[in-house]
Amino acid sequence: MSVDESTSASPETDQQPTHQCAICETSLEQSSQHLADNRETLVYSCPDCRIGAKAVVQQSGASSERCQRRFDSAQADAVTNPSVYTLAAFATDEFPDGQYHVTRIGEHTFEISLPESATQWDILRLVDRLSVGSLSAVAENRCIVVRDTRWPDTSTEPVPDGGIIQARIADGTVPDPADDPFAVADDDKPRTKRAKREEMDVSFHQKPGVYEVHSASGSYYEVDVIAETCTCPDFKQTCSDPDTPIDKCKHLRRVALEIEAGTVPRPDGKLPDK
Ligand SMILES: [Zn+2]
Ligand SMILES: [Zn+2]
Repeated sequence: MSVDESTSASPETDQQPTHQCAICETSLEQSSQHLADNRETLVYSCPDCRIGAKAVVQQSGASSERCQRRFDSAQADAVTNPSVYTLAAFATDEFPDGQYHVTRIGEHTFEISLPESATQWDILRLVDRLSVGSLSAVAENRCIVVRDTRWPDTSTEPVPDGGIIQARIADGTVPDPADDPFAVADDDKPRTKRAKREEMDVSFHQKPGVYEVHSASGSYYEVDVIAETCTCPDFKQTCSDPDTPIDKCKHLRRVALEIEAGTVPRPDGKLPDK
């Protein structure tokens, strides 16, 4: 295995300090730095959707025994709690030196890219390592896609802003937000835009005011429009934080839109009058 000596003057594009959230396209913010001998891991996370994240691992040679023990425990942890950090622990010094990126591309789906010098054999070895417990790993091009199979199949990942736009008027004109609750307005907040555009199934619950929202990523959240609560991580982490002003997650927003549009029963359980 020889390293290509003509690695010209083109700098790696991933040397850029900014990384974008693969889910909502917001710029990721650095959230932690892990230094070990011959290895540096920078973890970035999304300040907006709170799901998107990336670990950038710079690997250069063998790690100490103590460091290896930390990898072992992170790997064991990844089986029950996959994160960009715990999955990064699978790229140890048995794999080529260089930069590894672990990106969260869906709520339960991650993508790992290997350095240029990695061979197909290295990729397959890492796939094999990652196929453990509920994790399913497959090689795709020069990346590895890892999914947590405890969750339903995520063939449809969350749609980023700019993805599906509700087209409700047959002649192709853009609906006026005043007429159509699902029309996206320029000044809509990011969460409102996602509430309007993303694929979500909303169904009415037995309890008054409670709706179930099935997101495109396969997650299930319970939205209570009377108490104004949602069981999603965004609501728990941001919207109910006493330090931030009360905010509604995209699921609460979506249910309000569905009620307004008459596509689900009103909170009192009565059918919309059409
Ligand atoms: Zn995001
Ligand atoms: Zn929510």
